[in-house]
Amino acid sequence: MTPGPDRAASGPGPGPGPVLAVDVGGTKLAAAVVEPDGTIAVQGAVPTPAGPDTAPVTAALHQVIRQVIGDRDADALTAIGIGSAGPLDPAAGTISPVNITAWRDFGICDSLRPLLPGRPVVLAGDGHCMALGEHWRGGYPGRALLGMVVSTGVGGGLVIDGRVHPGGSGNAGHIGHIVVDMAGPPCPCGGRGCVEAIASGPAMVRWAVGQGWSPGERPGDARTLAEDGRAGVPIATAAFDRGALALAAAVVSATALIDLDDVVIGGGVAAAGDLLFAPLRTAVAELAGLDFVRRVRIHTSSLGNDAGLLGAAALALEAAAHQ
Ligand SMILES: [Zn+2]
Repeated sequence: MTPGPDRAASGPGPGPGPVLAVDVGGTKLAAAVVEPDGTIAVQGAVPTPAGPDTAPVTAALHQVIRQVIGDRDADALTAIGIGSAGPLDPAAGTISPVNITAWRDFGICDSLRPLLPGRPVVLAGDGHCMALGEHWRGGYPGRALLGMVVSTGVGGGLVIDGRVHPGGSGNAGHIGHIVVDMAGPPCPCGGRGCVEAIASGPAMVRWAVGQGWSPGERPGDARTLAEDGRAGVPIATAAFDRGALALAAAVVSATALIDLDDVVIGGGVAAAGDLLFAPLRTAVAELAGLDFVRRVRIHTSSLGNDAGLLGAAALALEAAAHQ
């Protein structure tokens, strides 16, 4: 994606200037001021308040935004880009994140619009923003990139020819719900045998516990499972091998369909590093047959948690340039 100056030269608009980027997740609400060249000038985050009441969550979001804007002249900010956990309706500007029960059909765009009157406000899924952020700032020159977040769930987004591929309803890229085991376990989505039902952190932990693994006094999560995997505990390594195989099946299938150049994987489970990526690369090599599928490159996210904010910023910069 080309940063500000070229875009500003291509048409009327407020000219290149920083944008406000917002990242809405079930664990935290993050915001940043991002320069047209992708530099994060300032960023902040607050835990997402739990509970069913709308007001505290909305107040926390506005608080973190006020905090990052600080003493800066808000008029200098040219647009707002929002990436959010889904489901969401980008056209209506509303979100209903599964893990934020306080917000159902919450009009996040209308809520933030008064902060920068007259400026564009754009909304996209968090997986789309992660993929776009990686494409923009991660240094992948290919034409087709899949971003994946392997964490409590498995999410993703597609960037094709430099643009997010939204799909028919704005939901393309749900790689976590590609079916990889037709006799597999039920998935939180209501389906069965999805990648997420096998390779998400909780799914791996559930399987390991079913095989007799115990975290002992430690938290029973994917981080502890990874700790044991690195220590060579057989059930823990088997859980990661199994998750990696499911991810590989999804990556190979998606590559056959879309002719992907790059797959960039981030999220808490991906932080396990080689414990996940070594069996993943082996399984991709085993499952892929066609030459164009075998050429897919698999990367660990280099941007980490910043990818979503940077993707939201990229959307905002584009909206500002076309205003
Ligand atoms: Zn599913």
